Amino acid sequence: MLEALRKIVQEVNSAPDLESVLRVIVRRVQRAVRTDVCSIYLLDPATQRFILKATQGLNKKSVGQASLSRSEGIVGLVGERAEPINLEDASKHQAYSYIQETGEEKFHAFLGVPIIHHRELLGVLVVQQEAIRRFDETEEAFMVTMSAQLAGVIAHAEATGSIGKLDDVKNKGKTDRKFEGVSGCVGVAIGQAVVMTPLADLNGVPDRQAKDIELEKEKFQNALASVRKDIKKVARSLSKRLRSEERELFDVYLRMLDDNALAGEVVAQIENGNWAQGALRKVVEEHVRQFSLMEDPYLRERASDIRDLGRRILTWLQSSAPSLAEIDFPENAILVADELTPAMLGEVPTDKLVGLLSVNGSGNSHAAILARSMGIPTVMGAVDLPYTRIEGMQIILDGFSGRVFVNPSDDLLQCYQDIIDEERQVNADLEGLKELPAETKDGYRMPLWVNTGLVTDVARSLDRGAEGIGLYRTEIPFMIRDFFPSEQDQTETYRRQLEAFAPRPVTMRTLDVGGDKPLPYFPIEEENPFLGWRGIRITLDHPEIFLVQIRAMLRAAEGLDNLRIMLPMVTSVHEVDEAKSLISQAVSELREEGVKVVQPQIGVMVEVPAAVYQVRRFARRVDFISVGSNDLTQYLLAVDRNNPRVANLYMSYHPAVLRALQFIVQEAHKEEVTVSICGEMAADPGGAVLLMAMGYDMLSMNATNLPRVKYTIRHVTIEQASGLLSTILSMDDADKIHLLIRDTLKKWGLGQFTRPTIPD
Ligand code: PEP
Ligand code: MG
Repeated sequence: MLEALRKIVQEVNSAPDLESVLRVIVRRVQRAVRTDVCSIYLLDPATQRFILKATQGLNKKSVGQASLSRSEGIVGLVGERAEPINLEDASKHQAYSYIQETGEEKFHAFLGVPIIHHRELLGVLVVQQEAIRRFDETEEAFMVTMSAQLAGVIAHAEATGSIGKLDDVKNKGKTDRKFEGVSGCVGVAIGQAVVMTPLADLNGVPDRQAKDIELEKEKFQNALASVRKDIKKVARSLSKRLRSEERELFDVYLRMLDDNALAGEVVAQIENGNWAQGALRKVVEEHVRQFSLMEDPYLRERASDIRDLGRRILTWLQSSAPSLAEIDFPENAILVADELTPAMLGEVPTDKLVGLLSVNGSGNSHAAILARSMGIPTVMGAVDLPYTRIEGMQIILDGFSGRVFVNPSDDLLQCYQDIIDEERQVNADLEGLKELPAETKDGYRMPLWVNTGLVTDVARSLDRGAEGIGLYRTEIPFMIRDFFPSEQDQTETYRRQLEAFAPRPVTMRTLDVGGDKPLPYFPIEEENPFLGWRGIRITLDHPEIFLVQIRAMLRAAEGLDNLRIMLPMVTSVHEVDEAKSLISQAVSELREEGVKVVQPQIGVMVEVPAAVYQVRRFARRVDFISVGSNDLTQYLLAVDRNNPRVANLYMSYHPAVLRALQFIVQEAHKEEVTVSICGEMAADPGGAVLLMAMGYDMLSMNATNLPRVKYTIRHVTIEQASGLLSTILSMDDADKIHLLIRDTLKKWGLGQFTRPTIPD
C-alpha cells in the first residue's frame, strides 16, 4: 500500500494540470483499492455544489455534469461531518441521493473521505463497489492518507489551472485571479511581473517570449556545446577508473543531447517563440514525466539523468544571462521570485520597482523586513502562485491583506488605484514631521530610532528624523559579497553609518548569520536552522571573524565615539562574558596600535525565551538591553517566522508575547539599564503605543514606518496608552486584542494607519 501511495503521489505531482491530476488519482486509487469505482467530487466555491470532476467506473459523460448541493447525498454528509463515511449499502442510508446520469445505481458499498486543505473542504474522494460489503480498515486508512496527501496537490493544481486558462484569455478577458499570501510590506502596487529565475533550478524557469529567436537558438547551441565538452572532459578524466558499462553512460548522455533527441525538441520550442531557458524547461519536464511513469525501475531512473542534463544546460545558459542589476525592468515592475532573499534586495535597482512578490517566506522573513525598510509593497508566501507562468502579466499586489490579483479587471484596478492615491495623501501629510519631537499630547517623550542595513537606509532615516540607529544589521553587507569582507572594507562600510549619524548613537549588531540569512560563501546545512548555528554561536566559534568585525567597528568609530555594540541570539551569560572579553582584547590591541579607541557601550539582545528569564543577570553585565521581538515571538510561540503555512499563528499580540515584553522592561529597569526594542512590532503604530506604555526607553524601527509611529505618538496621551495596555493585558485572545487595537486607533482618529477595507 505504501508503495502504491508513493507512486500515485509521484505521478500526480508530475501531472501538468488539474484535469490530469484528478484523472490520475481516480485511475490509480481504483486500481490500488481494487474497487469498481473511484470518483472525485470537488466543491465549487461559487455555486457551493459538489461537481463530479473525475471518475473511473461511473459514466464518463457525467463528468462535469453531475452535481449535488452542499448538503445533498452521502457526499454532502461526508463534507458536512468532515470525516469518512463507510457503508456496506449506500442505497439504504437515509441521505442517499442517486444521480441518474452517473449510472451508480448498481453500486452498493460506498466509502467517501473528505479532501481538506488548510481547514477548507475541497471535495470528496469516493470509492464504490457492486458487492454489499464494508470497506475494511486498511482500505479506509489508505483512502484517508491518500486524500490528506493529495489535498495540497489538488489545491495547487486548482490555482495553477486557472492561470492556464488565463494564458489563453490574456488579451481577451480579465480574470481577477486571486492568490493568497501574507503581508510583507503594506501598500498597494499595480505593475508588470518580472520573474526572477533561481539559478540552476529548472522548475523555476518562467515561460518568456523570445525577443530574438535566432539569438536564443544560438545561446542554446553554445550551452549545448559547453555541456558536451564538459561531459567529454569528465569521461576522459575518469576513463581509467570506470568499468566499460559505466563509461557507456557518458555516451548515452551525449546521445540524449543529439539534434534528433532533446536538442531538436528544444530548438522546435524556441522556434515557437519561447526563450531558450523556457523551451529547455518544457522539453525536460515532458521527458521527466514520461520516464517517471514507466514501470521498469531502470527506465524510471533515467528521469534523473534527463533532469541532470537539463540542469547542466541551464547553468550554461544562465552564465550568459544578465545579472539582476542588468535586467531591463519595465516601468512599474513587480519582482516575483520563488524565494525573495536579502541578497536580491541588496542588488535590485529600485527606481522602477513598485512591488515585491515571493512564493516562499513570510511576513517576518528578513527579505520582508528589508522590503519594509525600503517601503516597497510586498506579499510573501503566495504558495499557490504559479510564478513561472506570469512573466509580463499585469498584477495588483495588495500588501495590506497579502493578496495578489493576476490580470485584473478595470473595476478592480480602479478600486486599488483609489487606495494608492489615499496612501499617497497619508504619506504627504506625514512629511512635515521630521523636525517635530515624538512626544505625546501630555508631554511624554518617546525616542524613535531606526533600523538599517541597506545602503539606502541612512539617507532615508536621516530624512525622517531618526534620533539614532537602534539596530544596524551588519550581516546585510556581508550577504551581497563573494567572501568575507576584509577589516578595511568593513571599517569603511561602518564608518559611513557612524559618520552620517554622529553625534547620534549607532548600535551595530555583530554578525547575525544562520537561520534565514545564509552567506553564499559560508554555507550551513542544517535540519533546523533557526534552532541551530546562528548569531553569537557562530561568531564565538570563529573568534577570527568576530575580532575582525569588532576591530573594524572600533576603528570606524575613531573620533566619533558614537558606537554601541550589540550581541544577537544570546542564551547564556557565559556568551556575554566571552564576547566582552574578545571586545576588550580588540580594544587593547588597537590602543597598542595607536588607534584612539573609546570603550563602546555593549548591549545584549533578548530574542529567545531563555534570555527573558535572565534579563537582570545580563543587565548587570552590559550597558543596554534591546528586545528582538521578531525572534522572541517565533521562539515563544514555536512558530517559524519564515513559514507562510503558520503565518496566521505568528501573533505579535499574543498574550504570552505581551507579558514577556512587559516582564523584560520591568526586570531591566530594576537594574537601571535602558531597554529598547528593535523588532518589527515597534514599527506598528498599535504596537508602538503599547510598548511606550510598558516603559520601553526607545523604539527602533524601519525608516518607512517611523513617521507613522511619530504621528501616532503625537496624537495620543500616555494616559490613553496606559489605559489601553492595561485592558489588553487582561485579555486572553490575540485576535480580539488585535481588533481592539485597531478599533481604538480608529477611535483616536488614527484609522489611516489601520488596514484599509478592500473589496473581496
Ligand atoms: C529580531 O529578531 O527582532 C531582530 C531585530 O533581529 P532580526 O529580525 O534581524 O533577526
Ligand atoms: Mg533576531
